[in-house]
Amino acid sequence: MLENELTALVQTKLNKEMKDASDKELYYVLLAYTKERLKETPAIEGDKKLYYISAEFLIGKLLSNNLINLGIYEEVAEVLKKNGRELSRIEEVEPEPSLGNGGLGRLAACFLDSIATLGLAGDGIGLNYHMGLFRQVFQGHKQKEVPNPWIEPESWLTDTGIRFEVPFRDFTLTSRLYDIDVAGYENGKNKLHLFDVEGVDESIIGDGINFDKHNIGKNLTLFLYPDDSDKAGNLLRIYQQYFMVSNAAQLILKECKEKGYDLRRLHEHVAIQINDTHPSMVIPELIRLLVQNQIDFNEAIEIVQKTCAYTNHTILAEALEKWPLDYLEQVAPQIVPIIKDLDTRVKGRYQDPRVAIIDEQNRVHMAHMDIHFGHSVNGVAALHTEILKNSELKHFYDIYPQKFNNKTNGITFRRWLLHCNKELVRWISGYVEEDFRKDANKLEKLLRHIDSEIALEKLLDVKHQKKVQLAEYLKETQRLELNPDSIFDIQIKRLHEYKRQQMNALYVIYKYMEIKAGKKPQIPITMIFGAKAAPAYTIAKDIIHLILCLQELVDHDPDVAPYLKVVMVENYNVTMAEHLIPACDISEQISLASKEASGTGNMKFMLNGAVTLGTEDGANVEIHELVGDDNIYIFGESSQQVIDHYANRDYRAVDYYINDEQIRSLINFIISPEMMKIGDPYHLLQIHAELIQKDWFMTLLDLKDYIATKNRAYEEYADRKAWSKKMLTNIAMAGYFSSDRTIAEYNKDIWHLK
Ligand SMILES: *Cc1c(COP(=O)(O)O)cnc(C)c1O
Repeated sequence: MLENELTALVQTKLNKEMKDASDKELYYVLLAYTKERLKETPAIEGDKKLYYISAEFLIGKLLSNNLINLGIYEEVAEVLKKNGRELSRIEEVEPEPSLGNGGLGRLAACFLDSIATLGLAGDGIGLNYHMGLFRQVFQGHKQKEVPNPWIEPESWLTDTGIRFEVPFRDFTLTSRLYDIDVAGYENGKNKLHLFDVEGVDESIIGDGINFDKHNIGKNLTLFLYPDDSDKAGNLLRIYQQYFMVSNAAQLILKECKEKGYDLRRLHEHVAIQINDTHPSMVIPELIRLLVQNQIDFNEAIEIVQKTCAYTNHTILAEALEKWPLDYLEQVAPQIVPIIKDLDTRVKGRYQDPRVAIIDEQNRVHMAHMDIHFGHSVNGVAALHTEILKNSELKHFYDIYPQKFNNKTNGITFRRWLLHCNKELVRWISGYVEEDFRKDANKLEKLLRHIDSEIALEKLLDVKHQKKVQLAEYLKETQRLELNPDSIFDIQIKRLHEYKRQQMNALYVIYKYMEIKAGKKPQIPITMIFGAKAAPAYTIAKDIIHLILCLQELVDHDPDVAPYLKVVMVENYNVTMAEHLIPACDISEQISLASKEASGTGNMKFMLNGAVTLGTEDGANVEIHELVGDDNIYIFGESSQQVIDHYANRDYRAVDYYINDEQIRSLINFIISPEMMKIGDPYHLLQIHAELIQKDWFMTLLDLKDYIATKNRAYEEYADRKAWSKKMLTNIAMAGYFSSDRTIAEYNKDIWHLK
C-alpha cells in the first residue's frame, strides 16, 4: 500500500524510478507524501485549547520525526532500501529550520511534540523568520555570521490564507499565517502557527547579517534576535514582539468566535502560555481586543489574568526584558495606556517599587506584568524555582505564593532517543518490553540487567558504533578526524560565560601541559565543543577564538596529538546535536551553580548513556538525585555559596591568579608565544585580562575541583564494565525527563485541558 503510493508518487513527480532519483529529489517526494499523510491525520479537538506563544521554536529537521510519529518510519525505510536507497542519506538533504537560538526554543519544540502525543489540543504561535538565527562559519579562528536561508519553495510550511492587520503607530502591516502540522506519536495533530509579513525582502541584507533596521515592512521577519546594541535594533525587537502577539491574540479570538464561545468565558476555552518575556505584550493586547469586543475593561483584565501563565527561564538580570515606555509608544501606542493602567493598579496595591511594572526610569518590566496579570509563574527546574521564590522574585512570591510552581523541563524521547539513536533503541528493546516507547518510566526496568555481562558489553558496543558514525559524519561534513577509541568529552550549548566553556578550555591547557611534561593519558581524549556566540557578545567570541587556537595548537603538536584532540564543530544546531549526543561519553554541564535555570542538553546526554560531569545546578541536581553519587561527577561550590559570593562581593579572580601557581600558569598560557603565533594577540589578551580582572561567572572558583574531578572521571572510564553500569543507570533513570511528564504536569496544574 505505502510502497505503491510512494512508487507512484516518484513516477508522477519525477518521471523516473526511485533508484534513478537523486537524494534531493527523493526528499521532495517524501516531503510531499508526508505532508499528505499529515493532512489526513485528524486534528486534536477539545473544548479548551492551549496556545503556546514563543519567539523561538527550534524544531529541527522534520522528515524523520514525522515519519516516526505517523508510525511509518520503518515501512518507508524498508521501501527505500528495497530500491537501493537509504533514508538516513535522504534526511541529510533537508534544511534545518532556523527558528530558534538554544534551549528555550528547543524546549518549545519538545513541548509541541508532547502536547500532541498526549492528545491535548494545543498549538504553538511564533514568527516565520526567513533567515532565523545566523549560520556560523569559522575564518581565521573566529566566528563569522552569515545568513541562514532555510525556506525553500517546497517546505513543511503551508500558507493558510489567513491574514490579519497589525496596527503600528506609523503604519499597518498585513500578516500572513503559515502553518506546520505537528503530529503526536501515534496520535492526532496540532499546529505550529508562524506569522510572517507580506513585504519581507531578503535582498536588503548586505554584508554578513547586516541590514537596514529601519525598514520594518521589509525586515520584520528576516532574523531572530536582531542585534539590539542600538536603538533601531531595540525598536525592531519590539516591532517583532508586538507583531507576534497581536497576531496571536487575533487568531485566538477568531478561533473562539468561530466555535461560538462567549469571550467573557475565554479562560474556560483558552490557556495561553507565555514562554519567557518575549510574548508578554499579549496581555495588554488581549485586553485591548476584548474591550473592542464590548467587554468592560475591568472584566477584560480578569479574563486575561485567568487565561495567561508565564514561564521564567533565567535569573540573569540582563535577560529580563525592560523596554523604555517611549519605545513602546513609538511602536504600538495603543497598548501604552493599558500598561500604564495596569501599573497604576499595582502601585495602588503595593508600595514596594521593586514590584512595579513601570520603574522610576520609565522602563516597563515585562516579567512584572506577567506575574501580576497572569495566574501562574513557573520555573523550569526544582532549584531554579526555589531561587525564584527565595531570592530573584522573592518580593512577588511574598505577594502571590499560590502563583508559583515548578515544572522541571523535559525532552521528547521521539527525537532524542527513537530518532537519533536507533542502535540504543534496539539494545533497550532486548531487555524491556516495547511500552517504554510510550511510557518512558519503563526504562527503569533496565536496572534489572545491571549485572548482566552481556548487556553491559553490548551497551559499550552501541556507544562505540555511535562514535564511529560521528567520526564518519564529521569527516564528511567538516573534514575533521576523530579517533573513536578515545574518550569523547563533549560540551555543546550556546556560548555564554555562565556556561563556562572557558573553564573547559583551561582544562585543555592543563592537559596539554601535562602531556608536554610527559604525563600521557592512559586513553586518548577527544574534547568536542559546539557553540554559537551572540554576534555582539565580544567575550563569548574571544572564548571561541581561544578554543579554535587550542584546536590548532594541539593538532600540530606531534607530542600531544596522539593523546589529545580538540575540535570545535562549526554551526552547532539540532542536527549536529543529534549526531554528537549519542556518541558522547562525558557530558559537560559545568555552569556556575545557580545560573543555569535547567538545561535540557544534560537530559539528552543522560538518555543516550553519557555520564554527567557537572555542578549542582539546574536539572543536574535532579539528575544527581536520580542516579546517585556513583553515576555522576559533581564538583564545585553550591548555588547558595555562589549567591553569597555575589551578595558579599567577595569573589576576586585576581586573588586566585596571584595565590595559585597552577592557575596562574594555565591562564598565562593563553598569551604564551605559541598561542600568540596562532591567534590574534588582541583577542587573546582580552580574554586573558577578562579572566584575571573580572571573571563575573567565577571560572577560577571551581577550576581546581573541576580538573581533579574530570581526571577522576577519565581514570574511572578505563574500567569499562564499571563505566557501562554508569551508562545503564543513566539511561534507566532518564524517564523522568521525558517532556511527556513535563506536559502532563503543566496540564494538571496550569492549563486544565480535557
Ligand atoms: C538541547 C539544545 C540546546 C540546549 O542545550 P543546553 O546544554 O541545555 O544549554 C541548545 N541548542 C540545541 C541545538 C539543542 O538541541
